[in-house]
Amino acid sequence: MKIATRCVHLDADEDRYGAIAPPIYQTATFRQPTALEFGEYDYTRTANPTRTLLERQLAALEEGRYASAFASGMAAITALVRLLNSGDEIIAGDDLYGGTVRLLERILPRHGIKVHYVDTTDPEAVRRALTDRVKLILVETPSNPLMRISDIEALAKLADEAGIWLAVDNSMLSPCLQKPLTLGAHVVIHSATKFLCGHSDVTAGALVTNDQELYERIAFQQNAEGAGLSPFESWLLLRGMKTLALRVERQNASAQKVARHLAQHTLVARVYYPGLEDHPGHKVHSRQASGAGAVISFTTGDADLSRRIVEATRLFTIAVSFGSVISSISLPCRMSHASVPASLKEKLAPPADLIRISVGIEDVDDLIEDLERAFAAAHKLEAVASTAGSR
Ligand SMILES: *Cc1c(COP(=O)(O)O)cnc(C)c1O
Repeated sequence: MKIATRCVHLDADEDRYGAIAPPIYQTATFRQPTALEFGEYDYTRTANPTRTLLERQLAALEEGRYASAFASGMAAITALVRLLNSGDEIIAGDDLYGGTVRLLERILPRHGIKVHYVDTTDPEAVRRALTDRVKLILVETPSNPLMRISDIEALAKLADEAGIWLAVDNSMLSPCLQKPLTLGAHVVIHSATKFLCGHSDVTAGALVTNDQELYERIAFQQNAEGAGLSPFESWLLLRGMKTLALRVERQNASAQKVARHLAQHTLVARVYYPGLEDHPGHKVHSRQASGAGAVISFTTGDADLSRRIVEATRLFTIAVSFGSVISSISLPCRMSHASVPASLKEKLAPPADLIRISVGIEDVDDLIEDLERAFAAAHKLEAVASTAGSR
C-alpha cells in the first residue's frame, strides 16, 4: 500500500456500529474481569485503545513495527534519553531544535549524561567522536533551522558497528518524504505537533522503532513516567494524519517554488533548502528522501531587515513551529531557538538574520506575492531609516 492510501486506512478493529471514524475511548480506567485478572486495557496511562490505534498508524507510516505516542515531541525525546545511564554520552548534531538543546544541556548533565555536538553531515567527524561511553547518536536531517543534511545510511552503519542507537528526528519531513528506519536508523523521533498533525491544534510526539526490546523499554518508560498522549489528542492526531500525504505533497511542491523565488531575490543573501541544487547536502538528501519539505530558511545579511520582513508579511503568520496548513514565518534566533543556553550560543544558535518559513497549503502565487510585498515594505523602511540616519 502506498502512503497516501495508508493515511486513510486505519487498522481499526471492526466497530459494532460500523463507525467510519474511530471512536474515542475517553476513559481513564477499564473494568477488570476479576480482581486478579486484567483485560487488554486497564489504565490509560499504560495504554488506551485510541492511543494504540494511533501508535499502529504511526508505525505503519514510518514502516516500523512499533510506535509510542507522547504528550509532545520533547516528551518523546525525554523518554528516549532516559534510557541512558549516568556516565553515558550522546553525540548530537550541531544544528538542532532549541528545545532539544535545552533538554540536552540543562537537564541531562544533572543525570550524569554528557553530550558532544558534532557536525553530523560529516560521518568521519562522528566516527572520530565515538567513545565507549557514547550510546546514542541523535540527528535531525534536515536540521532545524539550518537544513543541514546528514547521511542516515552512513551514520546507521557507524552506530551498528559501535553497537549503539541512531535516532533520527524526522519532524521536518514526515514519513511521506523520508523513512529513516528503512535506511537503517534504530529509532525515529517525531514532533507530531508539526506535519503529522498539520493543523496547529495538537502537541504530540512519537518514537518509532523496529527493535522489540527497545520498544518495550520505551513503553515501560511511557507508563512509568506518565507522558503518554491522551485519548482525545490521539484522536485529533489520527484525524489530522488522514490528510498527511495530500498536505505534504502540496506543501512540498509550493515550497520548491518559493525556494527558487527566494534564491534569485536581490534582498536574499543565502537560501537553506535541500531542494536547491547548490545546497551542500542536495545529493545525499535526494538519495534518502523524496522531497525537500516545506520549511525554508534564508538570510538577508541584516538582522533588522529580517525582522521587518517577518513583521511585514500578512499571509505568513509570525509563529514558532512549522508543518501547519497555515504558512508561518519566524526569526529562529529570537523565537524557537532563544532557549539555546548562552554558553552554546556561539556554536549552536542560528544567525540573527535567519528567517525560517513554513509553507502551508495556500495558493503558492498568493504566498510569493505576500513575500514580495513584505520585502518591498521592509526595504522601503530601511531606505527611509538610512536616509534619516545620514542627515
Ligand atoms: C518542534 C520540534 C521538537 C519538539 O516537539 P514539541 O512537539 O514542540 O515538543 C523536536 N524536534 C524538532 C525537529 C522540532 O521541530
